[in-house]
Amino acid sequence: MVFGVPAILFSIDMRDSVALLRQTGKELQALRAVEGLLGWDQETYMPRRGGTARAESQAALSTVLHEKLTSDAFWGLIQDAAAQPKLSDRDKAMVREFRSDAEKARKIPSDLAADLARTGSLSQQAWSKARSRNAASEFLPWLEKMIVLKRREAECLGYEEKPYDALLDQFEPGSKVSAVKPVLEGLRDGLTPLARRILEKRGRRSTPPVWLDREFPMRIQRRFNKALLHDMGFDLEAGRLDESAHPFTQGLFSGDVRLTTRYSEHDWLTAVFSTLHEGGHGLYEQGLPEEDWGTPLAEAVSLSVHESQSRFWENRVGRSRPYWERYLLVAKEHFGVALEGVTVEDVLTQVTAVKPSFIRVESDEVTYNLHIVLRFELEEAIFSGALEVGGIAEAWNAGMEKLLGIRPGSDAEGFLQDVHWSCGLYGYFPTYAMGNLYAAQIAATIERETGSLDAKIRKGEFAPIREWLRDRIHRHGREIPGPELLRRATGGDLKPEYFLKYLEGKYL
Ligand code: MG
Repeated sequence: MVFGVPAILFSIDMRDSVALLRQTGKELQALRAVEGLLGWDQETYMPRRGGTARAESQAALSTVLHEKLTSDAFWGLIQDAAAQPKLSDRDKAMVREFRSDAEKARKIPSDLAADLARTGSLSQQAWSKARSRNAASEFLPWLEKMIVLKRREAECLGYEEKPYDALLDQFEPGSKVSAVKPVLEGLRDGLTPLARRILEKRGRRSTPPVWLDREFPMRIQRRFNKALLHDMGFDLEAGRLDESAHPFTQGLFSGDVRLTTRYSEHDWLTAVFSTLHEGGHGLYEQGLPEEDWGTPLAEAVSLSVHESQSRFWENRVGRSRPYWERYLLVAKEHFGVALEGVTVEDVLTQVTAVKPSFIRVESDEVTYNLHIVLRFELEEAIFSGALEVGGIAEAWNAGMEKLLGIRPGSDAEGFLQDVHWSCGLYGYFPTYAMGNLYAAQIAATIERETGSLDAKIRKGEFAPIREWLRDRIHRHGREIPGPELLRRATGGDLKPEYFLKYLEGKYL
């Protein structure tokens, strides 16, 4: 028996071995959806004291999943399917991706997997405490432990050039330092002088305007944000919008995509941009092919491509003049007197303000990527052995000064600010910057092929934009590797020039 499927099916012909693989994938995915739902619930509605029991449920489920994914039975099934002649291109891709997932999982010994999970969870708790008390020394031993474990993981996974490649590959399949580095260096070298010019021209961001101090009832904000999602084409019959401290998207199935946003009673724009961002992720999840559910063909191809979708809607659409020429009127219908006297210019000044910030998640779209460059440079140094744990804080501060011209006054606003390193997410940050670059490259292509984006945004005509994204990106799932998918969609390799040109046009 493999996952409840009678063994007799094994002896049948090729079509059935592919069908059996699909069936098994569906069963794995069904369990992953439960895992996703537990995680979503934890971040939204779970009572605070439910945490310990929830962690038990999640650990139990992830053990079952790991066992199934690494079982010899599943491996045999993949080999059988791969050996079949005359597979369609899509089936070939499906088998290739199933094999890649199983292969990676099988390379990690179960004691290391358990150690990563356990130490990662404890380390994250230690980080959270250390950050709130600005006590870096309490976190450093955990950071050291996690780096040792991740090094071991990289050795198990294997790499051709650098250990860090094995970590990058977990989020951005196939990517290597030797490919990512020139792109990020090009971005850094173009962005540093450009950011300086933009800051000189526009001056510093002033204090929040009075109108952001007025009352914007949550009840109305919820309705308004759902209206924005509906307009961009997110199907609220196949998804939800809820609230959480850190906004996220959890796709369980193309018919059940959960988004969260974060409301502030006064600054109603905070929620708008979280909603548009997650809405972009959500459209991708809803656009994955339903008929391939349970296979990699119905999964997002990479984190950077996912992020390109969210940043496209958040920044290219949402932080544009035509968007607010349209949606300030809609906002006034919702909020009434609270927005009296507020002009498009007022909103634009607010949503396109530029100012170097210590905190990545609070930074503007101009300086944001410099934060990513810093983290990439440090991660690369850590895993090449050039940077010791004890030197990270100073390397961080020096890097901030060099790239952004500001020096953090504390580790809490320095290297302790992000959760990623505490739980072992190394190689993750570069996908944020690549997502921004892809978004600009995609926007330029849509414009070239379908005409002015601004004209469509002004009229609220989002369908042609959405259809383009669906056709070129969403519906393919993991059939085509990320870089090739983007090459086909945009006609070229990932280049920082599109993004730099976009910023120049918008901000100078
Ligand atoms: Mg995102």
